[in-house]
Amino acid sequence: MNAYPHLLAPLQVGSVTLKNRIIMGSMHTGLEDHTKDIPRLAAYFAERARGGVALMVTGGYAPNRRGWLAPRGARMASQKHADAHREITDAVHAEGSKIALQILHAGRYSYHPLSVSASALKSPINPFTPRALSSLGVERHIKDFVHSAKLAQSAGYDGVEIMGGEGYLINQFLAARTNKRTDRWGGSPENRRRFAVEIARTMRAECGPDFLIIFRLSMADLVTDGQTFAEIEALALELQDAGVSILNTDIGWHESRVPTIVTSVPRAAFVEFTERVAQAVDIPVAAANRINMPETAEAILSSGKIELISMARPLLADPDWVNKVQAGQTELINTCIACNQACLDHAFSNKPVSCLVNPRAGYETVLQLMPTRRAKSIAVVGGGPAGLSAAVSLARRGHKVVLFEARESIGGQFGIAQRIPGKEEFAETIRYYTKQLEVLGVDVRLNTAVTAAQLVEERFDDVVLATGVTPRMPSIPGIDHPSVLSYAELVRDGKPAGDRVAVIGAGGIGVDVSEFLTTEHSASLDLEEWKREWGVSSNPTAVGSLTKPVASAAARTVYLLQRKEGRIGAGLAKTTGWVHRAALKAKNVQELTGVNYERIDDSGLHISFGEDHSRPEILDVDTVVICAGQESVRTLEPELVAAGIQPHIIGGADVASELDAKRAIRQGTELAASL
Ligand code: FAD
Ligand code: NAP
Ligand code: SF4
Repeated sequence: MNAYPHLLAPLQVGSVTLKNRIIMGSMHTGLEDHTKDIPRLAAYFAERARGGVALMVTGGYAPNRRGWLAPRGARMASQKHADAHREITDAVHAEGSKIALQILHAGRYSYHPLSVSASALKSPINPFTPRALSSLGVERHIKDFVHSAKLAQSAGYDGVEIMGGEGYLINQFLAARTNKRTDRWGGSPENRRRFAVEIARTMRAECGPDFLIIFRLSMADLVTDGQTFAEIEALALELQDAGVSILNTDIGWHESRVPTIVTSVPRAAFVEFTERVAQAVDIPVAAANRINMPETAEAILSSGKIELISMARPLLADPDWVNKVQAGQTELINTCIACNQACLDHAFSNKPVSCLVNPRAGYETVLQLMPTRRAKSIAVVGGGPAGLSAAVSLARRGHKVVLFEARESIGGQFGIAQRIPGKEEFAETIRYYTKQLEVLGVDVRLNTAVTAAQLVEERFDDVVLATGVTPRMPSIPGIDHPSVLSYAELVRDGKPAGDRVAVIGAGGIGVDVSEFLTTEHSASLDLEEWKREWGVSSNPTAVGSLTKPVASAAARTVYLLQRKEGRIGAGLAKTTGWVHRAALKAKNVQELTGVNYERIDDSGLHISFGEDHSRPEILDVDTVVICAGQESVRTLEPELVAAGIQPHIIGGADVASELDAKRAIRQGTELAASL
């Protein structure tokens, strides 16, 4: 018997049979916005349909222009729009899956001056103040939502998802925070619910009994003056009466100051909120947020009333997720590590969405790993993300691959990253590659710092240099003082730090190292502690499911320094940088900018400020950790070239600056596709 009986059981929803319990949640890929990208979108959905998922939800489509996320964004508002979608629905149905179109009206999150909302209140994350809809405007909007659903039905969609969470228009009507109306669409909780319920009721009447209507319900708003659980429960019951088929989970608003999906959020952190709603209604309810592996999903389904699991990013990372579960091959799953680097960070900067661990996501028709016609013998030097992705992709194409790794295990710098509290998920990527190398028969030679002579001797057809980076040690007087450690010595090699530490360099690694130094390591995985730190309340009467955050004590005193003026962490990514900055603040990390490093000696780190080296100061620290960037390791290149071998150079060995695992993995895959 399969170890995931609940996950793989079919579910009847009205007249629709879902073949298992996995829904792919909505993700805006950037391909929705232009009709010319429909073939790419069709290939993207078809690949995931082949992977066995029961039902997919598209990215958000606005029901009218005012609801656009941004000017000229995706819309489902005319028969012409609908006709173009046939290619998508046909491709999905041909692969035996189902698909629903998400209807999303951004309300005050619309990034244009024509935005509308329940009330004329600007959001803290958008420069445009919306116009309050008139009563007539509200009624017109209900019609537009329903019209959009009818169009989706005519395009062959099995249903629609009404986006009722995340702080978008419907959520803006639901919460007292954003709905200050005094007419029948505002005031009492019942009045605030009316817009959502009327959309669902009219949609059911117009679309008939067999069409799936999913409602994405905010189960915890996580904003001040957000809904209480009593309000959410009442809404769930009214939506059920209005004819909604499935309630899907949404947690938090875009403007919430509580992280909801980043990697430091413990797995399945918000399931209790979904469970409470599921207890109250009879229709199926889907859990979502930080569910990425089958054991977590199975545990949720087997222990409660929840009947479906909605996963979005995990299916970007691995389109074959469900097939692998079905085949009992869960070790082969390419796990979403919740980094947001190639998905949400791209979406928020208007770049096409992809995936750090799967650069083919969204590029299915562009980046293909076709079987090779001439199998070659290829050496890949370096088992970091770049070398691993190259080795695995080359072997998948049918090449004979030898992977050399100098250390006792694979992972490279990523192996250091996985030791940072809140980045434990990164270990999944290393587990994935370990297993893939094994099943693809790559000859892995650990503890082998390969030399150019060895590579020449083995007469490979191609040599790939993925030798990565090494920490930069700046030329500060006293840099060889015993109190100085590189980040690798601290985090990877476990060298001890004292009670007072200065961290030199405040890039991504300096920030991570500061969290490493201030966090008790078991704490990052403890859900109750995490909720306390971020002020998430399970109390059903808590407004917006919030309470006062209580920071845990820092494990030691840490100073984080950079030479630049300006705030620390300014270069961190959009969707995760604020979480890191808040974590540093909670741990009382002392941030110093515009610093000159004068010297390091027995009394600590001597610094000064500004061009004139004024205000000299001694930081009385017992350890100095260097996080001052990295340098490429490519010593093998000249030796190989001298021997007549022109190596392919990827990842950090290629360019060290602004290196991340996203680039390293993408370069490895792209190179493999081309050899
Ligand atoms: P490396 O990871 O440096 O791998 C190179 C490998 O080559 C090493 O294993 C090395 O031992 C091996 N090697 C070198 N010479 C030889 C030889 N002669 N023979 C055999 N083997 C050799 N990136 C992100 O995208 N997101 C993050 O959140 C993130 N967080 C990070 C946190 C920390 C604390 C650190 C240290 C890094 C983080 N990174 C993150 C960066 C990411 O890990 C690197 O960008 C990535 O590992 C670079 O991959 P690479 O394969 O090019 O090089
Ligand atoms: P980085 O972001 O380039 O930061 C290097 C830091 O060192 C900067 O603060 C820089 O600031 C300082 N520095 C540079 N040269 C120095 C010198 N000679 N002396 C003293 N200080 C110096 O690099 P990183 O932190 O090493 O990170 C490497 C890569 O890993 C990054 O590019 C990043 O993409 C990736 N990463 C990503 C994440 C993530 O969450 N996405 C997390 C960790 C790492 P000043 O010059 O102002 O002092
Ligand atoms: Fe998951 Fe990161 Fe890929 Fe996004 S980019 S799907 S968060 S692994």
